[in-house]
This record gives sequence, structure tokens and C-alpha cells, in this order.
Amino acid sequence: MSDPEASSKVQTLCISPAAVPDFTLKDGVLYFKNRMWIGNNVQVQQKILANLHTAPVGGHSGIHVTYQRVKQLFAWPHLRSTVMQFVNSCSICQQAKSEHVKYPGMLQPLPVPEHAGFWPKLEKWLINWLCRPLV
Ligand SMILES: [Zn+2]
Repeated sequence: MSDPEASSKVQTLCISPAAVPDFTLKDGVLYFKNRMWIGNNVQVQQKILANLHTAPVGGHSGIHVTYQRVKQLFAWPHLRSTVMQFVNSCSICQQAKSEHVKYPGMLQPLPVPEHAGFWPKLEKWLINWLCRPLV
């Protein structure tokens, strides 16, 4: 769960805000070109993907749409391939695809998005993670 690279960036930016190109520190959160930097924290990446793809707000969009959605808000190394991997291994998407072939027109309408509460919760979680004591 630790990401020494991100931690060292945060530390550097705390001391000298312009020290790392393209990175800024805002309210204890690390940003890469105004996108929240997740770094190599796979757990957080999966959490974000789950929220932006699997959750009702994500609606199981395809790789491209999911990627664009994640890219607007977050950044991490190999973002695109992570999204590709996540969507390709999503069991609901695979099921929907095969069902679509067998029964066109039988797909369920997308659930109503549940925006309320998601962002503040995730943001708080991320801030807590980024501001955790460094050991
Ligand atoms: Zn899916």
C-alpha cells in the first residue's frame, strides 16, 4: 500500500512547491497537471476504477470512455493499460457482451447514477492516505 515515490514527491513539494515539474501539492493532495496523482498505489487505482466503471455512475462504459473519465480526474503510471486490464477483466462487461450477441435488445437500462456522497468520500479517503504518517 505504500508508494515511496509519491511520498518523496509530497515531501519535496512540502519544502519547495516548484521542485517537481508538472506536480503540485494542494491541500495535502498531490496533483499531476491538475489531475490527482495516484502513483503506484494499486489499491487506490482499483478503487477509482471500481467507482468510475463498475459503480452505477460508471455504468460499465467501454475502455475508451472509462479511460477518458479517469484521465480527467486522476493520473498514475500506465493509466491506459490499467483501465484496459480492468475493463477486460470485468465479469459484468464480459457477460453483457455475450448476452448482447445472443439477445440483442435484451440489455437492461443503465441504473440511475448515484453521484451523491461518492466524491467527498473518495477525496477524504485519498487525502487521508496521502497525509498518513510516513514511516
Ligand atoms: Zn464492466
